[in-house]
Amino acid sequence: MSTRMRAARLHSPGEGLIVDTIDRPELRAGDILVRVASCGVIPNMNAIFSGSLWNHLPPLPASVGLDAAGTIAAVGGDVVDFKIGDRVYVNPWLSCGACSYCRAHEPMLCSAAGFQGYFGFFPQSRRVLDAYPIGGFSEYMTAAPNRLVRLPEEVGFDQAARFGYLGTSFAALRAGAVGAGSWVAINGVTGTLGVGATLLALGMGATRILGLGRNRAVLDRVRALAPNRISTLALGERSIAEWLREQTEGLGVDTLIDCSGRGAEASHTADALGGLKRGGVCVNIGALTEKLAIEPIKFMTNRIRFQGSNWFTTGEGQLMAEMARVGVLDLSKLDTEAFPLDGVNEALARVKQRPGGFTNIVVNPGR
Ligand SMILES: [Zn+2]
Repeated sequence: MSTRMRAARLHSPGEGLIVDTIDRPELRAGDILVRVASCGVIPNMNAIFSGSLWNHLPPLPASVGLDAAGTIAAVGGDVVDFKIGDRVYVNPWLSCGACSYCRAHEPMLCSAAGFQGYFGFFPQSRRVLDAYPIGGFSEYMTAAPNRLVRLPEEVGFDQAARFGYLGTSFAALRAGAVGAGSWVAINGVTGTLGVGATLLALGMGATRILGLGRNRAVLDRVRALAPNRISTLALGERSIAEWLREQTEGLGVDTLIDCSGRGAEASHTADALGGLKRGGVCVNIGALTEKLAIEPIKFMTNRIRFQGSNWFTTGEGQLMAEMARVGVLDLSKLDTEAFPLDGVNEALARVKQRPGGFTNIVVNPGR
């Protein structure tokens, strides 16, 4: 095995990635080396790589790529549970293991959290990014075994490269206690998070899924996934709260998953909150930035909650792999558009066109 490899790197924020030949990462005793088969390309990626957001980019030039899946090519001497040839998804969430949150077993709250191949949440995230400096748009990358999701044969690498956004939706549905017989509304149902949330809610046993979105063609496609369980409403057509109540015997939904993101209108979220059942919960995963007008008294008297959720645990990733193995999470509904490593900038341009949540855009570094 050559000690050199190809990797797409960000040299300058806002400019295209450059495919360089660099040293393969050194394998530490506690880590594994993955030969990357596929890495996801997500809507937010261009904004992050522009360097204009609050996130802290790794030192440049940086090997990037967030959601990688592939085959284990080598294992460090201290690794016991994985072997060469195992198929895995690499959860890029990095936590420090030592901060107050990590010591309380809350790695999702880590004070130095970062995403391998993407960015750090805080200036001090630099140390976790330095420990795992290679992203998924590379032929090889290293990872710690506790971040690996084992992939059954039934889950393709291109499908697993969607696990980041799927997992974000899954964790939100779990935070919203979605299960057998749940009534769920999904705001932004036509996007990457929304389509994933729909597929997962179907698998988790939700019986009424009420989707809100703009693109009518994609709304129709969402509804066609399970016409007896899914209804959709085009945003702007009428009052969301009224419609949600009409669909739920006047009660409202148990859970609202709000996927509306940067640039979306908060008024739709405010309207949808009026369609929550008493005791219900709204979980935001879209990173809505516009100020949201709420009436706190309704949160009090109706005992409703508004909460945020970001990313997911490796354990939740493993649950999704198991759901996909038996088909209750039906990933065959997604259309994959795969690009070779040399086409990484075309893949990033493609995702900018917002092709809709059914389109799964990936880069295959080995191709
Ligand atoms: Zn920590």
